[in-house]
Amino acid sequence: MRQLIAGNWKMNGISAALADIETISEIAATSAPDADILICPPATLIWRAAQTAAGRIGIGGQDCHPEISGAFTGDISAEMLRDAGATAVIVGHSERRQLHGESNSFVSAKASAAWRAGLLAIICVGETEAERASGDHLGVCKDQLSGSVPDGADSTNTVVAYEPVWAIGTGKTPTMDDIGSMHAHIRRCLTARFGSESNAIRILYGGSVKPTNAREILAVPEVGGALVGGASLKAEEFHRIFSAVPPRG
Ligand code: PEP
Repeated sequence: MRQLIAGNWKMNGISAALADIETISEIAATSAPDADILICPPATLIWRAAQTAAGRIGIGGQDCHPEISGAFTGDISAEMLRDAGATAVIVGHSERRQLHGESNSFVSAKASAAWRAGLLAIICVGETEAERASGDHLGVCKDQLSGSVPDGADSTNTVVAYEPVWAIGTGKTPTMDDIGSMHAHIRRCLTARFGSESNAIRILYGGSVKPTNAREILAVPEVGGALVGGASLKAEEFHRIFSAVPPRG
């Protein structure tokens, strides 16, 4: 399985940041990493980022609305992202779930909208610190998966991102054993529902991935890549992360 290294710029980046898209695209084109590279900039940059990347890396959205169009002030449809040059979209990021009250069923509708528009849906799940402390993290992620991943998921339309909420932007990461256990658990949930054809669905790890821990994390069994926040903002750091992808055996 080819890994996916995706950068989530969140609400960071104005026109000047297109220089980083150019740098990352150029490095990706010349170093030919053994991974797909994707940057999800703010929506205002998607069109120009896609023009700049010119197919050397993928460009994605950070969220989409379930509907194609309508009276949804401030929202962006999956079709609009596609029209702007995106090939993928993140849905169900914990910042959307927590700050915008998004439910599993709403996230599922967004993932279906992504498929309708021909976008790869990167569906995020992950437990809070309290849920981990209570020992309920496996159950929490199982419920998020069953509620947020629509019927019909396969490796061409879906990527799952496991992002423990307590690890996002904090510098804290689970142990490699904990990452391995959760990824194995997510794989079992996907296989139970979608059968062995779903074994090629990539399961990314996200939460404080940095150049210093990427090699170890990306080598954990069932880790199919990374969703990277802060460390994707600097081309040099992001490059060091996608250079750490293990060669496929
Ligand atoms: C994220 O926001 O998806 C993320 C993983 O952030 P960070 O890498 O900064 O923890």
